[in-house]
Amino acid sequence: MRRSAAPSQAGKDSPTQVKSLISSSQINVSKAFCSPLTQSLKRTRNSGKDNPKAKLRSLRKADENNEIVYPSNHEEIIKQLSKPYICPIPNYEGAQSTKNLGIRRAQPKRALYDPNMPNALVLYTPPPQTLHDKLKNEKDVLVHVVVDPQLGNILRPHQREGVKFMYDCVTGIQIPDYYGCIMADEMGLGKTLQCITLLWTLVRQGPQAKPIISKGIIVCPSSLVKNWYNEINKWLGGRLPSVMIDGGPEVKKKVTQFMQGQGRMAIPVLIISYETFRMQAEILHGSEVGLVMCDEGHRLKNCENQTYRALMGLKAKKRVLLSGTPIQNDLLEYFSLIHFVNEGLLGTSSEFKKKYENCILRGQDSTATDLEREKAVAKITELTTIVNKCIIRRTSALLTKYLPVKFEMIVICQLTAYQKQLYLNYINSEAIKRTILDSEKGEKSKGTGGTSSLASITTLKKLCNHPDLILDKIQEGGEGFEKSQNILPPKRGTNDVRIELSSKLIILDYFLANLKSTTDEKVVIVSNWTQTLDLFEQLWRRRGYQYVRLDGTMTIKKRAKVVENFNKPDSTDFIFMLSSKAGGCGLNLIGANRLVMYDPDWNPANDDQAMARVWRDGQQKPCYIYRFLTAGTIEEKIFQRQTHKKALSSTIVDMNEETARHFSVAELRDLFRLENTESDTHDKLRCKTCLNKIPIKNPPEEADCTSDLSQWFHCWDKKGLADMVLKQIWTACPYISFVFHQKSAKQEVQKAIKFREEDEKENDSDYEEQDDPEDSDYEN
Ligand SMILES: [Zn+2]
Repeated sequence: MRRSAAPSQAGKDSPTQVKSLISSSQINVSKAFCSPLTQSLKRTRNSGKDNPKAKLRSLRKADENNEIVYPSNHEEIIKQLSKPYICPIPNYEGAQSTKNLGIRRAQPKRALYDPNMPNALVLYTPPPQTLHDKLKNEKDVLVHVVVDPQLGNILRPHQREGVKFMYDCVTGIQIPDYYGCIMADEMGLGKTLQCITLLWTLVRQGPQAKPIISKGIIVCPSSLVKNWYNEINKWLGGRLPSVMIDGGPEVKKKVTQFMQGQGRMAIPVLIISYETFRMQAEILHGSEVGLVMCDEGHRLKNCENQTYRALMGLKAKKRVLLSGTPIQNDLLEYFSLIHFVNEGLLGTSSEFKKKYENCILRGQDSTATDLEREKAVAKITELTTIVNKCIIRRTSALLTKYLPVKFEMIVICQLTAYQKQLYLNYINSEAIKRTILDSEKGEKSKGTGGTSSLASITTLKKLCNHPDLILDKIQEGGEGFEKSQNILPPKRGTNDVRIELSSKLIILDYFLANLKSTTDEKVVIVSNWTQTLDLFEQLWRRRGYQYVRLDGTMTIKKRAKVVENFNKPDSTDFIFMLSSKAGGCGLNLIGANRLVMYDPDWNPANDDQAMARVWRDGQQKPCYIYRFLTAGTIEEKIFQRQTHKKALSSTIVDMNEETARHFSVAELRDLFRLENTESDTHDKLRCKTCLNKIPIKNPPEEADCTSDLSQWFHCWDKKGLADMVLKQIWTACPYISFVFHQKSAKQEVQKAIKFREEDEKENDSDYEEQDDPEDSDYEN
């Protein structure tokens, strides 16, 4: 049954009906203002005397009785109907936009979701208004902005806070006239989800009851393009369409199409790699974009480089930069990042240098006077006050609320006699003397000349891992090894794993043997070099351990499969080998609860990335992280530099004074010296709690593994170790000389809480329905 007859159809049926419709609509007009559509619906339902169907029936009846029923004014009506339509408003030109798919009913403005529902995450609350105000000017009525409950219900407390903070920043509430922010949460806290929530909210709603932005761009390293695309679909299941571009054919066309779109867009999100962005910058600068988000934003630490300039030129007021590691080397990098999101907030780069940087760096040097330190602290406070308004950073200590305890151990061991002799010969060689001289010259002329020292560093690092990694050089008597040809015993065949040559390998072998026999736990082993992994593989084969290996050569698809299999509880794989260069980004290896970092990386972020693979969402068992370092060697020195970088970053970002003073710059210069010590790192701490190699007091109760190393446990022997496996191998292995250990902050919730799998339940339908028809009129 037809619910209401359109005038044209009614005309075909019977001319009288037209008249009746016209007259009835006239009646409508004279009634109170209501939508004509709802009126006609009511009429049908009531089926009163105005009902066209009823009219039709009476006409048919008349026909049966041979009565001629013909309206006298039929021709008149035809004339009226065939006249061209003239708009009754003079000079009316029609709407500006081309949107005409579906007509929206005039409705009072209201929020997309109910701000009063339980657990609603309200990002904006309009100022209170009287009913009179509302009637007076419907246009000015503001509404609540409420996060889609589908996301709001899965966000954890810190994530809700993060979304609210970013919303306040990009809408200029946080700092008037500035619309950017830095999301600097540490890994594992869900930066991506928070950003997706923000983006989804902005393209859907706003205080004016219409979207705040029509489109947004996500810029990220090319390895993460697909990841972003998947994450958006994972959380929103196709409700927020996005297009990903990372090179490939038709880049130009796709980018142009995206940039030309206006109003409600069919695809409101563009995910693009930094490289592609730079190449298509011209098109991307063509028109305005509501929001830009830059993942791994520390790429923008240098305001001189091309990528930075390309992104800076984007016509996007609202900018969000995501980074787990805001500063890596210096404050100027930090400036660049803030400058990118909020241009002008800290002045120009030279103003910043004069006002803050010089003073802070001076105060952090270990030779600084008390006055200089005081001044630096004052400057840091001043700077922090400003930038805290647009940076949000929570440390992964927060995760302790949800995760089982984590023990971190820095295992420091002596080189074997073979390694030591090779090491000494190398660093005392003519080649190294030349290298040091070169790099000193290079330092004076800022940069250059560093390549030969880099190669020497690599050689030493490999030597610390295992002499066989540089066996060719040693046997040839290559540069630095002129006197070392006869140090190593002869190799028995190519498959001979000479465990006894490397102390770290000995420890690792002991460790795995003990772990395998005393537990059913799995382990992740990380190294910088695929060569090391090759060596490991030979050993695992000899020991009969089942293992998997992931390095840079593996496709993303294959990776996912390998990881999935490893995490299965019934998987027989014991070891997961990971090359830290392959990037652990996003890898979830919670099938294992132990992780060995076989060698340190210059960049603490890389090591942190790797370590965050096991202690993360979903982990149920206590975690044990081991970092192997050889005593007094380049490894310990690299590790110290890492700590220094971290200290700088936490000073400014976490506002933690205790971490400010560490190692002097001069100490970092002597990489090429072998210190004869149990632990060079401990020596440099100038520890006051160890007397004659006996710790006289424990670290403070509240210390955890994010604390300064001076607040970790210092172990000169196995006493006091929390981990039984390490305890047992220390007895067997004479090479371990010192261990720093600490655990994650106290658990606040006993069991790991399973969040996201739960409630995917339906929400208040009243609010959701309201928006549904709009989904269909996305403009194409
Ligand atoms: Zn100590």
